[in-house]
Amino acid sequence: MSLFNLFSTHLSADEMVRDNDKIAALLLDRRERYTSCADIVLSPISTQSVQKIMRICWANKIPVVPIGGNTGLCGGATIHGGVLLSLEKLNQINPVNTADRCITVGSGCLLYQVQQAAKDAGLFFPLSLASEGSCQIGGNIAANAGGINVLRYGTMRDLVLGLEVVLPNGEMISSLQPLHKNTAGLDLKHLFIGSEGTLGVITAATLKLFLLPQQVETLWADCQTIDDCINLLNLLKKNSLGSLKSFELISHAALMVSANDLRTTPPTNAAWHILCEWEKTPHTDRLPETLLQHGFEHIFIAQNDTQRQNLWRLRENISAAQKRRGVSIKHDIALSISKLADFVLQCEKNIQAAFANAEIVLFGHLGDGSLHYNIFLPDYPDKTAYQFENQINSIVYQAVLQQGGTIAAEHGVGILKKHWLKNMRNASELALMQAIKQHLDPDNIMNPNKVYP
Ligand SMILES: Cc1cc2nc3c(=O)[nH]c(=O)nc-3n(C[C@H](O)[C@H](O)[C@H](O)COP(=O)(O)OP(=O)(O)OC[C@H]3O[C@@H](n4cnc5c(N)ncnc54)[C@H](O)[C@@H]3O)c2cc1C
Repeated sequence: MSLFNLFSTHLSADEMVRDNDKIAALLLDRRERYTSCADIVLSPISTQSVQKIMRICWANKIPVVPIGGNTGLCGGATIHGGVLLSLEKLNQINPVNTADRCITVGSGCLLYQVQQAAKDAGLFFPLSLASEGSCQIGGNIAANAGGINVLRYGTMRDLVLGLEVVLPNGEMISSLQPLHKNTAGLDLKHLFIGSEGTLGVITAATLKLFLLPQQVETLWADCQTIDDCINLLNLLKKNSLGSLKSFELISHAALMVSANDLRTTPPTNAAWHILCEWEKTPHTDRLPETLLQHGFEHIFIAQNDTQRQNLWRLRENISAAQKRRGVSIKHDIALSISKLADFVLQCEKNIQAAFANAEIVLFGHLGDGSLHYNIFLPDYPDKTAYQFENQINSIVYQAVLQQGGTIAAEHGVGILKKHWLKNMRNASELALMQAIKQHLDPDNIMNPNKVYP
């Protein structure tokens, strides 16, 4: 029996995706590095349909790859035969539970829709990424997404109260409860957060909400050295009493790429730039003065929403501008704040010793130690740059590992970094990960060939 017939007897016509443009968009990853090939694309409309699909795949050993908004940057949703499972139709948003400050949503909801639903109820869902218009809650959970507000609110892991997941054998487990505490046994939701679709299909989630910040202040600062940026971070952390929510680093090269792409003049010419935000409280009124007293003279505070948006546009356009410029060898890394400056200085030396013309486009969420460390080779602006990928990765990742950092800060491992996982985790940790995978998915049907080396 063909796969089409096998599934169509159990699913409605709407759940069998046949639109070729839609299929083509799902089969090419965001960075256009991986082209997939699926035997069939399914788009279930309910958790029960996901269960039916998983039971059929379990019985017939058919590989299944869940896909959300397809904004992942590590090839985590690529497929080579089997079922590509689009979760976009699981997009129900339940009414906000104001008493418990939470919301329960289907995993196919777009991140910005959840932010908006919270806002409409006078509350705040703090996960925020440049891809928020197209990434889905299920993808955010599967990748344990980070973004610009981690400093104050944590990663997606910190924002999930409960999950509904369909296991590879079709069983469903659910903890969709508005409980902010629960110590009854193992907290199984954490197994699936960050599992990149390898252990089960996330179908719904209960998410924490917060009070909507009344007023936010946005500051742009110029720094001459990376140490100055870190001093600024520490000063703001100390004096904002926990209300600092974003602290973004932008190297001058990154600013130029974005500003040129937007055809605007960059606000300044310094070596490093910081874009940061805090929630205004009586404690923060004196922050600008404190910064001046500590020698941070080149600062600018947005005076209205247009100025604020223009500053954020420069930051959020960096990735897209880089893509339009050509191919870069990208790294999504994190270091402890105390090791960050040493890493930046050492890695730059190592890269420039091997590639004299290399342009290092560095930016990221410095407040939580994560950096996007991207190398552009002007002599190889197209896919020919990938011939140097292994060499560049070795230089960058060795410098990261020497300083005790991670090579997968917020984008996950996917296919792109699975061979590096053994450098990040010891043999006992890897064995335990494999044992959990083997127990839940003995035939390796759930997103095969990803994450585990
Ligand atoms: C411009 C841009 C900026 C970005 N900025 C950030 C950033 O600041 N911080 C950050 O963390 N990331 C960032 N990302 C990366 C990406 O947006 C996130 O990783 C996002 O969480 C992926 O969500 P998605 O719905 O697109 O998932 P997909 O790309 O569709 O899938 C990602 C992984 O999750 C699995 N998956 C998807 N849905 C499910 C599900 N329902 N159940 C089980 N597994 C599932 C897939 O199999 C795959 O392994 C950015 C990406 C872009 C393009």
